[in-house]
Amino acid sequence: MPTSEISSSKNVRKQYIYKFSGGRAEGDASMKNLLGGKGANLAEMANIGLPVPPGFTISTEVCTWYYEHQQSYPENLFESDIPEALRSVEEALGKKFGDPENPLLISVRSGARASMPGMMDTILNLGLNDRTVEGLAAKSSNPRFAWDCYRRFVQMYGDVVLGLRPADKKQKDPFEEILEAEKEKLGVREDTELGTTELQEIVRLYKKAILEHTGRTFPDDPHEQLQGAVGAVFESWNNERAQVYRRLNHIPGYWGTACNVQAMVFGNMGEDCGTGVAFTRDAATGENVFYGEFLMNAQGEDVVAGIRTPLEIARLKEEKPEIYRQLDGIRTTLEQHYRDMMDIEFTIESGTLYMLQCRVGKRTGPAALKIAVDMFREGLIDDREALLRIEPEQLNQLLRPVFDMKEKQAAIEAGRLLAKGLNAGPGAATGKICFNATDAAELSRRGEAVILVRIETSPEDIKGMAVSEGILTERGGMTSHAALVARQMGKVCVAGCGALSIDYQKGEMRVEGSEIVLREGDDISLDGTTGEVIAGSLPTRNSEIVEVLVDGTRKPEDAPSWEVYRQLMEWADRYRRLQIRANADQPDQAATALTFGAEGIGLCRTEHMFFGGERIQAMREMILADNLEERNTAIQKLLPYQRDDFYGLFRTMGSRPVTIRLLDPPLHEFLPGSDEEIMRLALKMGKPYEHVKERIADLHEFNPMLGLRGCRLGILHPEITIMQVQAIMEAACRLRQEGLEVVPEIMVPLVSTHRELEITAELIHKTARSVVAEQWTGVRYLVGTMIEVPRAAITSAEIARAADFFSYGTNDLTQMTLGMSRDDSGQYLPSYQQHDVFARNPFESIDIAGVGKLISMSAADGRSVKPDLKLGICGEHGGDPASVEFCHKAGLNYVSCSPYRVPVARLAAARAALLD
Ligand code: PEP
Ligand code: MG
Repeated sequence: MPTSEISSSKNVRKQYIYKFSGGRAEGDASMKNLLGGKGANLAEMANIGLPVPPGFTISTEVCTWYYEHQQSYPENLFESDIPEALRSVEEALGKKFGDPENPLLISVRSGARASMPGMMDTILNLGLNDRTVEGLAAKSSNPRFAWDCYRRFVQMYGDVVLGLRPADKKQKDPFEEILEAEKEKLGVREDTELGTTELQEIVRLYKKAILEHTGRTFPDDPHEQLQGAVGAVFESWNNERAQVYRRLNHIPGYWGTACNVQAMVFGNMGEDCGTGVAFTRDAATGENVFYGEFLMNAQGEDVVAGIRTPLEIARLKEEKPEIYRQLDGIRTTLEQHYRDMMDIEFTIESGTLYMLQCRVGKRTGPAALKIAVDMFREGLIDDREALLRIEPEQLNQLLRPVFDMKEKQAAIEAGRLLAKGLNAGPGAATGKICFNATDAAELSRRGEAVILVRIETSPEDIKGMAVSEGILTERGGMTSHAALVARQMGKVCVAGCGALSIDYQKGEMRVEGSEIVLREGDDISLDGTTGEVIAGSLPTRNSEIVEVLVDGTRKPEDAPSWEVYRQLMEWADRYRRLQIRANADQPDQAATALTFGAEGIGLCRTEHMFFGGERIQAMREMILADNLEERNTAIQKLLPYQRDDFYGLFRTMGSRPVTIRLLDPPLHEFLPGSDEEIMRLALKMGKPYEHVKERIADLHEFNPMLGLRGCRLGILHPEITIMQVQAIMEAACRLRQEGLEVVPEIMVPLVSTHRELEITAELIHKTARSVVAEQWTGVRYLVGTMIEVPRAAITSAEIARAADFFSYGTNDLTQMTLGMSRDDSGQYLPSYQQHDVFARNPFESIDIAGVGKLISMSAADGRSVKPDLKLGICGEHGGDPASVEFCHKAGLNYVSCSPYRVPVARLAAARAALLD
């Protein structure tokens, strides 16, 4: 009967503990929420007959209970539930917890729903004390091994449970200090040179240090040890690095972690023992090869922590062919069973293979695409599942820049290649060297591109990694924390670069076999695809896909990533229901958007057409005009520009829809700021400097974002709207005469009442009619409005009567709904996110509960009066996958985003449709 707690209301025993052992488990892979990823997969592996050491998982509900009940546990957990589960493990192995003759030793590990590599705590070799260590020594016939296990256990326990650790990162680890002092006293260099007697002395010194520094005695009673370890695992759910990681990965705090208690197997008992980690396919490229690393005579964390540089898995084939054969068989079993690329941890104890963990493997964007497409072709998954396997942001990695090969080659020939490490996270990064996370954060705050350089990264470095362009480490393998976390973040990473020697104290890095010394702040470049580390900065170049699609400088057959990209986009287009448009103001931007698959333009910001050269001049003259006549003169200068621009845009887009928004210039963005500029403008306008300055002062607004912009401008100065509509219609007429039918969508910005839209729409219709009459050419057009002011969203039913379409301007709608300036909120939003006020920046991803609710309401109201009202979104959120999913659910017709985000939006839209 499962171990459990009696629920008083229903008299049903609630299960808190789930056991597993060879061939049988109480849980399975579907129970991640309750058992955490690690626990669920241990259960699944046991169920499919893989060699898993027996154990049990304490569910995440216990962690939640722990935090909800002032760090206490459900009744009977330690009194009867855990002892009962331990008994099953004892029976399976014929060992006993705490038995001095034949002790059962256990590991206690954290494991949340989502993998959080290295962020929480783990304790190994638990159950050892002065008596059981002798039992282990006798059973293993290896006293040195037994005492080394004990030493490691006391150290881990002392640190994780009893809290003896350096106060800050600059101080030395107290346990390491004791170890180093002993080694020096004995005149030995390596830990392996320490004998049993020396290890016994070190254990004694460790315990003494624990008592002296923490006032706590190291517990001898294994049950007390276990209780302490379980508590520490739950506590580690809320340590600082876990919190940072959760924030970065949008993992909510209420999930909690499970705690896995499992019989120890030893990879460090001799030369026929070992431990390793592997991926069933290459996690960097996606190639279908077994990829991993191992170390003989080593214990679990040695491989991932990067302390010893491990060997490639292919070497295991030579050294232990039978084990390799077995492991390779497990690789196939797991892939067939999970139908995905898996990441595994294994241990070999005295020639027997054990599986300690498996989970779906983290992978780079290019690998994710390749694996999904390959697995479809291998018949493991269908096209729908292939799409759901790829996070839209992973696709984005394929669009990211790489180094220009010629420039890189020249740098290498000039002797700038410093070293080569492992190509742990692909892409090209260039920036300034920083040796610690805090400095990296500071430098990046000042707007510098940063490369974080560490001997090895620890999870504490996560803050620094998040702000860096790239990460370089001296030690560690492909599966080290640095590599795992970097890949997950989509960061460029070169790991295990042994030719570098980093000295934190001196703030410098030397290159083996040369005189080269690099210092903090020096420029450096990393090629995460090849592992090359190059001195100085290097220009980056567009990715293969961009070269094929946008630049046309590469043939598809010369771009290995092209075929998977093409296939994926074909599938995405098959399933998505949302149309994808782009925000573009110039023909070249429109052309780029088209190559990425845009189906129209959702927003052409006409004020952006006036940023350059002579145009800004005419625009300023219009804004600063003293009377109608002057304004008309300026406007007439703008007309030909506009007509040509619209013609170019329509022509590029063919018959696809193009939404042109009437002028919406927050005045502060367009008026000259410095005296010198004002002087130049005055000269050009033929007006006195003082007069122009005064006029600018008159126009000054305290809240330009809430000022004379959008439709207000056109209502005050109808001649501006007339000119723009004239230009749009004349361009459309010209194209019609040339044989191309375009249906311009004329969009009115910043409407808050239906009257504003009615007044503007009337003017648009009047002007359009007169152009059509004059040109003798029939052109259809639509008139719609942006919904970007909360009042407009609330009164959408009235507004819809005068509109053919709505486009949600979520930049302004967010700004005004939240009452947060879109320009300045960067100052406090990061700390708002830290306080869980928002899970994500609301200017990046739609605030679904607030802004989202307004959109849904407005969409329903609008369509209640006009069932075929066309709905879209054109704020920056249009390229954010979570927001795209929201738009799909809200029943919008399209999303519009920046050209480079179009592929991401296509994929996100398909995923939303498949998940619907
Ligand atoms: C918006 O407000 O979302 C929008 C698209 O308009 P702009 O960003 O130009 O204000
Ligand atoms: Mg706006």
